[in-house]
Amino acid sequence: MAPEIKYTKIFIDNQWVDAKSGKTFDTYYPHDGSVIAKVAEGDKADIDAAVDAAKRAFHRNSEWRQLDASQRRLTLDKFAGLLARDADYLAQLESYNNGMVLTMAKMMAHSAVNFTKYFASLADKFQGNTIPADGAVFSYTLKQPVGVCGLILPWNAPMLMFICKAIPALAAGCTVVVKPAEQTPLTALALGALLAEAGVPAGVVNIVPGFGPGAGSSLTHHAKVSKISFTGSMEVGKIIQQAAGAVNLKRITLELGGKSPLVIMNDADLAAAVPYAGRAVFAMSGQVCIAASRLYVQSGIYDEFVKRAAEFAKAIKVGDPTDPTTQQGPQTDEPTMSKALGYIEKGKAEGAKLLVGGKRIGNKGYYIEPTVFADVKDNMSIATDEIFGPVQSILKFDTLEEVIDRANNTNYGLAAGIFTTNINSALQFSKYVEAGTVWVNDYMTLAPQTPFGGFKDSGLGREYGRDCLDAYLEVKTVTINLPKKI
Ligand code: ADP
Repeated sequence: MAPEIKYTKIFIDNQWVDAKSGKTFDTYYPHDGSVIAKVAEGDKADIDAAVDAAKRAFHRNSEWRQLDASQRRLTLDKFAGLLARDADYLAQLESYNNGMVLTMAKMMAHSAVNFTKYFASLADKFQGNTIPADGAVFSYTLKQPVGVCGLILPWNAPMLMFICKAIPALAAGCTVVVKPAEQTPLTALALGALLAEAGVPAGVVNIVPGFGPGAGSSLTHHAKVSKISFTGSMEVGKIIQQAAGAVNLKRITLELGGKSPLVIMNDADLAAAVPYAGRAVFAMSGQVCIAASRLYVQSGIYDEFVKRAAEFAKAIKVGDPTDPTTQQGPQTDEPTMSKALGYIEKGKAEGAKLLVGGKRIGNKGYYIEPTVFADVKDNMSIATDEIFGPVQSILKFDTLEEVIDRANNTNYGLAAGIFTTNINSALQFSKYVEAGTVWVNDYMTLAPQTPFGGFKDSGLGREYGRDCLDAYLEVKTVTINLPKKI
């Protein structure tokens, strides 16, 4: 049964309002392409109202700014409890709007609770320093919230991305305007209602659904917004970096795409490596920024690995995301499906060997067969471009030195992995590969305690981890003149 859709309007000052233009846009169920709701389409005027509310809520005398840090922590902890209470419903809503398999959406909801608890716990733990400054002075630093933060979300893991930006921002004492992705606005709106229920004061959290060039761009250009945190494509990340410096100098955190290399050495445990490599690229229909979309396999095990990888992909059960036995659901929208199918055609045309899949499934919804290409060369489009689809590209290599250089020969640098039983190979690879996260005999494990972000064009700044609140804080130095003699 379809989950009830309770919220489709813009959320400002803890109130639900229509877009000032009166416009709405359709949001879809990726399983069959049907329209499931009409959502208020925010644009510049709505962003202006949301930012004004967030600015008021950030005033030094506001309820939020006057709250003790420990009370901020308790409020966010209460929100974590409400998330846990509604986790099943939120998972259903996420799956309904994004198409991710319900089992995955439930894991995401569980992670959302854990990440929230961790970020909440930091609300009263960040501290400045006392400094032995030169001269007859007393100097200390304060860490203070940066101001109104614009949080621009992607559609591939909407709920978790909301949590990973909004909760650290709130824990730091900021106020936020969230712009969910146009494909998946529903869970963000439901989270807004839960934050209000938890006692977050009016104006602290505002949510404006809408499109990138309208609501998104207005937010990144707004003079009263002090910080933008964005997760999405590299192309839009570059646009946002420019916009963030156009009107005022906004602080920015960017989590962009990847073309992450996963390396399988001759000495790897194949029984573990094959399914890991499969899940690393087919999970969430390949719509993951850390997808292991370049799979480098050493020559001594290449043929055997390729055979087993093909068997793994053939056995993946694709279908209705609500069926608990389904392993791969649809792509989230038609353009994403068409783009991935386009790359599959390029792979064929450029001479890669298609072993499994390669086609759309049916003509309803946005399903693609799990697809495996072998004998891929570094310069083929399927080895250079982010596909965001269920496409495994397997490349052969001979030595560790060679594969490190090939792995690094890209502008991306989000994640990397290696399967090996040799500690030296693991350490050398981890040291020299240019990536923000490296997994050894593992892939895709993320935890709230470990920093996450990209090298090179995969991003700016880090999210998660003990210091994640720093992205939402300014450091202020206070120096007090002291009498020279007492
Ligand atoms: P994808 O290519 O994976 O769909 P995008 O990077 O296009 O991802 O979108 C991610 C988020 O960025 C969405 O919320 C989208 O609306 C927003 N966005 C897109 N273009 C812009 C823009 N010019 N300015 C601000 N936000 C944008």
